[in-house]
Amino acid sequence: MAEKDTELISEGLKLPVVEEFFSLQGEGFHTGKAAYFIRLGGCDIGCSWCDSRFSWNPEIHPVVETKSIIDRVVESGTDSVVVTGGEPLMWNLDDLCKGLKNKNISTFIETSGAYQLTGIWDWICLSPKQNMPPIADICKVADELKVIISNKSDFDWAEKYHKRVSEGCKLFLQPEWSLFETIIAEVVEYIKKNPVWRISLQAHKYMHIP
Ligand code: SF4
Repeated sequence: MAEKDTELISEGLKLPVVEEFFSLQGEGFHTGKAAYFIRLGGCDIGCSWCDSRFSWNPEIHPVVETKSIIDRVVESGTDSVVVTGGEPLMWNLDDLCKGLKNKNISTFIETSGAYQLTGIWDWICLSPKQNMPPIADICKVADELKVIISNKSDFDWAEKYHKRVSEGCKLFLQPEWSLFETIIAEVVEYIKKNPVWRISLQAHKYMHIP
C-alpha cells in the first residue's frame, strides 16, 4: 500500500474495497431488506470457517476514495448501506458515515467488535469471535448480537455475550454454513429451550445472490 494511501486511509478518506453490490440482507434482524453492501478488505481474526477469506489481506484490494464509494451508493438509489468485511472497524469509517448520513442514507455495520468503533451507525450488528473478542465498549451499543454456531461450546459463547449487550439488543444464533447439516438440529433445540434467541439463516445463499 502506498505511503500516501496509508495516510488517507487513516483519515478515512480512502478505504480498501473488496467489492460493492446492491442486494438483499441475508442475515439477522434485517433479513430480506434491500441494501447496498460495501465489503472492506482486511481481517486478522482468522475464524477457521470464514467464508470471506478473500477479504483478509487488504494489500490485494484497491484503495478507493471514500467520496467515490458514496457517489456509487447514491447512484444505486438505495436508502441503506451495510458495511461488512473482513473486519470493517480496522479502518476509520467516520468520513464514509458522515457522507452517507448527509445523503439521508441509513448506515448498518457487521462487525466482530474487535476494534474501536468509528462512524455513525443506525444499526450495529455485533458478531463476537473467540479468536479476538470484542472490546467492551461496543457491547452496550450493539443493536443486534449474532453468534455463529459451529459446535456446542458456541452456545456458551453466545450466552456470555448475551449478558454483555443491552436489554433491547436483538439476539440471533446462526448455524455455520459449512456445518449446517451437523449443527442445525442443535440450534433449533436450543432456541426452543431458550426462546429469547432467534435463528439467522444465510438467506442470500439460498437465493444464490451475493
Ligand atoms: Fe472471516 Fe469475519 Fe472471522 Fe474475519 S471476523 S475471519 S471476515 S468470519
